[in-house]
Amino acid sequence: MITWVKIDRATGLLAGARQVLSPHFDARPAGVLPELLVVHGISLPPGEFGGPWIDRLFTGTLSADAHAYFREIAGQRVSAHALIRRDGQIVQYVAFGERAWHAGHSAYRGRTGCNDFSIGVELEGTDDTPYTDAQYEALAALSAALLTAYTSLAAQAIAGHSDISPGRKTDPGASFDWVRYRQLLDQALRTTTRG
Ligand SMILES: [Zn+2]
Repeated sequence: MITWVKIDRATGLLAGARQVLSPHFDARPAGVLPELLVVHGISLPPGEFGGPWIDRLFTGTLSADAHAYFREIAGQRVSAHALIRRDGQIVQYVAFGERAWHAGHSAYRGRTGCNDFSIGVELEGTDDTPYTDAQYEALAALSAALLTAYTSLAAQAIAGHSDISPGRKTDPGASFDWVRYRQLLDQALRTTTRG
């Protein structure tokens, strides 16, 4: 059980995370609170893990020349609130109270523009590579911390990017084990409530 995951609600920052703050964010619409947690998968270049490229994409510093694939995506103004690397390390790009630019064209239960009312967490991985034990543990701990810090969130309102952008996005993919994540989250929430 990861116990160091704690969110400062005043700043929206996560203690224990590596902070790589991105310029790719803005304010949520007035009066709108985070009500949805979105799970994503990403790897750069696709299928490769461990490089500095995700940090660079999300901070607008990705060089189009570093890899053929980057020519397609360099210059995109995208971000997520956090990334969980293969070893379970959490990187935070955007304060949770702000609007990160992770969902794109999207709808959840008929409500469009999911960036407005969601928190986006990326897992470093692909649709068909199993995510790591450390990632499941970190995601469950982070999710429990978010649900505790933001009572507008709910354990019932957690979706994959593919759920809110069907036909356009496939992440986190069939490799993401929702049952396992749900079980770990339930455990983490019981621990959090007791604490
Ligand atoms: Zn995504």
